[in-house]
Amino acid sequence: MMHRITLIPGDGIGPEITKATLEVMEATGLKVEWEVFEAGTSAIEKYKNPLPDEVINSIRRNGVCLKGPTTTPIAEGFRSINVALRKELDLFANVRPAKSFEGISSHYKNVDIVVIRENTEDLYCGVEHRIGDFAAESIKIITAKASTRIAKFAFEYAKKEGRKKVTAVHKANIMKLTDGLFLECVRNVSKEYPDIIYEEIIVDNMCMQLVRNPEIYDVILCPNLYGDIISDLCAGLVGGLGVVPGANIGDNLAVFEAVHGSAPDIAGKNIANPTALILSAAQMLKYIGESERGRKIEKALEIVIKEKLCLTPDLGGNATTEEFSIKICEKIKEL
Ligand code: NAD
Repeated sequence: MMHRITLIPGDGIGPEITKATLEVMEATGLKVEWEVFEAGTSAIEKYKNPLPDEVINSIRRNGVCLKGPTTTPIAEGFRSINVALRKELDLFANVRPAKSFEGISSHYKNVDIVVIRENTEDLYCGVEHRIGDFAAESIKIITAKASTRIAKFAFEYAKKEGRKKVTAVHKANIMKLTDGLFLECVRNVSKEYPDIIYEEIIVDNMCMQLVRNPEIYDVILCPNLYGDIISDLCAGLVGGLGVVPGANIGDNLAVFEAVHGSAPDIAGKNIANPTALILSAAQMLKYIGESERGRKIEKALEIVIKEKLCLTPDLGGNATTEEFSIKICEKIKEL
């Protein structure tokens, strides 16, 4: 079956890791008609708009997009492309799996966590202002609609993926109304899933428990801010941002992307690690009904990393991005 997917290679290391990822997908025999777009700095130069309407329209039409990292100017210039995409397309769920890889040095061995983060509200609404010279205020918004929607998503995800437990993260002991409402909604939804264990934990304790004993966690459900922090913490448990995939999912729309940024310090050197984007692509294949091919990619990647066949410098090897992806393609063909 031929798929039609929107592709944003991004900038910095984006084009290099995107090329590697496309090769790996092709090695599985996947047939895709890519609609390729620029976004961010390069789109500004060409179209005077960091996120041209054509990109948004293409994602709406195709329902799915693979995205490389894009540079965001700090403190000035255009807003993050990721934030803009989430808002425009109402991609309300951020899904970040963190799974231990044999062969990647890390303090833990059996981590297999998926962080599901609410993506549209909380302190990230950006409703903040200065009050004179000596104070500033930021407003935290939590709604029953968004909390119930993300809770349903998390429990459905757990059910579909055969996961056993959902842990809701909060600080309702202090933020009794906002985080209290979040918990109330999650609790209500949890009652519809008696086969999935449901538990709640205060965010500071969550951080401590994750560092002490991450193996006992399964699906972790968070409002926006805690989710942002906890998902990076979980990435750190399994070897860092270079190896964790991500997805932003809405109603019949999804954007899959590596979690890391455009890494300008190593751009153009052919040494970037494409693992995170390749794993994001594998997630994407499962989403579009190509689970077998997605699993094949994950398996091949696992073998190449475990057997240290050809690792990029960030994983302690000296292979180039190209050599790494060629090795994965070879493995896929053997599977
Ligand atoms: P970064 O993730 O780009 O880089 C942090 C460090 O990790 C750097 O030393 C980099 O070389 C290394 N690194 C990152 N990805 C790697 C990979 N695949 N292989 C090997 N090493 C890798 O974070 P940053 O430097 O804070 O951000 C750079 C730019 O990226 C900023 O403009 C930021 O706004 C943007 N950014 C974009 C996204 C996205 O598009 N999803 C996400 C985060 C940051």
